[in-house]
Amino acid sequence: MTGSLDRSATWPYDEAGEPGAFSYVRAEHPNQVAVEEELGRLEGGRALLYPAGMGAVTGVVLTMLPPGGTIAVAAGAYYGHKQLFDHLAPWGIDAVEYDQTDPPPERADLILVEAPSNPLLTMPDFEAAVAHAALVVCDATLASPLRVRPLELGCDVALHSATKVLGGHDDLLAGVATVSDDDLYERLHLTRRLTGLVASADTAWLLERGLQTLAVRFDRMEATARELAARLDAHPAVTVARYPGLGFLVSFDVADGAAARRVETATAVIENATSLGGTRTKLESRNRWEGERCPEGLLRLSVGLEDVEVLWGDLERALDRA
Ligand code: PLP
Repeated sequence: MTGSLDRSATWPYDEAGEPGAFSYVRAEHPNQVAVEEELGRLEGGRALLYPAGMGAVTGVVLTMLPPGGTIAVAAGAYYGHKQLFDHLAPWGIDAVEYDQTDPPPERADLILVEAPSNPLLTMPDFEAAVAHAALVVCDATLASPLRVRPLELGCDVALHSATKVLGGHDDLLAGVATVSDDDLYERLHLTRRLTGLVASADTAWLLERGLQTLAVRFDRMEATARELAARLDAHPAVTVARYPGLGFLVSFDVADGAAARRVETATAVIENATSLGGTRTKLESRNRWEGERCPEGLLRLSVGLEDVEVLWGDLERALDRA
């Protein structure tokens, strides 16, 4: 349950001059511990909070990828992961993309799958990934721990951008990595403490509050997304509609980039904005960010809590401009 907010950066030693459970905020702080307990329960493991989803993946890769090692990343998954690894190439990180519906490449030292991938919405072949000798990290941001629990499927780390549906209200930036292995937990914790990849008390408190409504938000968003995906699939202006069978994210293609731009700027209720998993529905062309990684006419729809008929009316009117 969400308790008080403690913004302290230090706590006094005890009467014998020894540090208690909390001494310095970079090591541990009460709101972080509280939300990690909740996240760990949801995921079935030991959770570590980070100040962003990208902070979580940075902590994981610095801890788990051997120097000069190869990380195999799901193609068509969140483009920021590959961008980060390419940025870190001067430090010897070698990132290769692979089709996550197939087995990972033999030479991988670490595997990053995404369930489902953003925005192409493929699901990984978990059996093939965990059969590989390398450790497996699964970014399950789009599924949430309510629908995919990577640790139970044999993965070593479950990763989330908590900025998205876990927080749920587009008012925080956070990430989480959850593991079951105690040694791995200690190594990740040490990296986090030494690098200062630590989320604030305010962030942890807000995230804990968001988690209280996760299940009701998720069920409603998912039901609406499933319905909208079916209607989009039948719409003459839509060439492909993708829905992985779970979650709140739909992606669909219209004729080309110009048509996508006309559609995304024509909605009245749906926001033309980036990000996903919030209470308000958002639509955007992904080509502006991802270039040739995704089809020119691809639109990503993150379904929120609004009424399904209101959303469909808005989409139908916008698709008239396709
Ligand atoms: N993973 C996925 C699937 C994402 O969609 C994103 C951001 O969009 C991230 C990770 C990165 O998270 P953050 O923006 O919280 O750093």
